[in-house]
This record gives sequence, C-alpha cells and structure tokens, in this order.
Amino acid sequence: MRQIMKLNNREQARMVMDVPLRTCTDCRGGAKGKRENYTYTQCGLKNVVLVDVLVYRCARCGAEQVEIPNMDGLHRTVSLAVLCKPRLLSGDEIRFLRTVAGLTATNLAKNLAVTKNALSRWENGAKHGLASDCAIRAVCGMGIIADIVNQQSGSVDPADVAKTLETLQLSTPYPATGLPASRERAGAEPEAERSNRS
Ligand SMILES: [Zn+2]
Repeated sequence: MRQIMKLNNREQARMVMDVPLRTCTDCRGGAKGKRENYTYTQCGLKNVVLVDVLVYRCARCGAEQVEIPNMDGLHRTVSLAVLCKPRLLSGDEIRFLRTVAGLTATNLAKNLAVTKNALSRWENGAKHGLASDCAIRAVCGMGIIADIVNQQSGSVDPADVAKTLETLQLSTPYPATGLPASRERAGAEPEAERSNRS
C-alpha cells in the first residue's frame, strides 16, 4: 500500500515536471504551461508572434500568461526590426519605438520639432510624411541603440544592431524605386495638397 502511494507521488512529480504548472495571478487557480506560438499583442503591435514559448492558461478563468525570460531584449529586437522596415511606420510602431527608446511624447515631439498634438495624431494613425518618418527612426533608433550599448541586461543579437545601423545610415531606409511608402500615402496626401491649393 505504501509503495503504491510512493509510486503515485513519483508519478505525480513526473507529471508536474513534464507539464509546467503555475498559480493563476487572476484567480489563484491552476494554470498549465504549454509550448506554442503566441501573438504578443501586449507590446502594442499586432503582428509580433513569439515562436515556441511557454504559455500558461488557467483552467478556471482562462487567463493567459506568456513566459518571456528576456523581455527587454525582446522589445529591443522587435524595435530594431521595426527600424529596418522598408515602409512608413504605422502609428502603433511609432508609439512602440518611442516607448522602447524611453521617450515621453513631449520629449519626442520636442526632438522632432513638432507639437505634441501632431505626434499624438501620428501615433493614433494619422498619416505622416517621409521626412518625419526618417526623423522618428533617427531619434528613437539612437536612444534604443545607446541603451543596447550601455546596458548588460536585455541583450540582443549584435548582427541585428549592425543591420539597423546600416539601414539608418542610408539617406533613406526605403527602397529607391517603387516606394511602398508613396502607395501608402497615396490616399491621404493628394487630398491634402488639393485642399491646400484651393
Ligand atoms: Zn485564473
């Protein structure tokens, strides 16, 4: 009888080792961990998928918690990819870069020589121009790369940093021909130009 108990305990222990368990922070219920691909919208971007990460899902309330061992490094790596994007930044991306760079909206607006309202409109999806886009990348990119160089925590792949620096050093990070940016702006800007002329 005692031996069976021991066996059960060992078996239970093995189960716990195979299936990571955690207490749900929302309801104190049990949350089981499972490796899967996870769309990480918590960072403010809709298209970041973490591959093969441990996701804990609560059996009682359904709350999800994803395990990210190197959060700073992840945010910096994503921001470097955004900085190299060959099209105009989206509003979400501007806000993300500003946050990772550790800049307030007031500070970034000041650096760009625009009003805080203008920056706020861009972050909420209003179209901005190519020159502003380059300036946003330069200011935020400088802050982000300075952080990477100065800090030990949140390490990233040096190759990503090198690629980003190379991209930012180009006169424009956008392809010289067939600018996708101009296609993105095509809907908004001719309108604005027309109304300015009249
Ligand atoms: Zn729960």
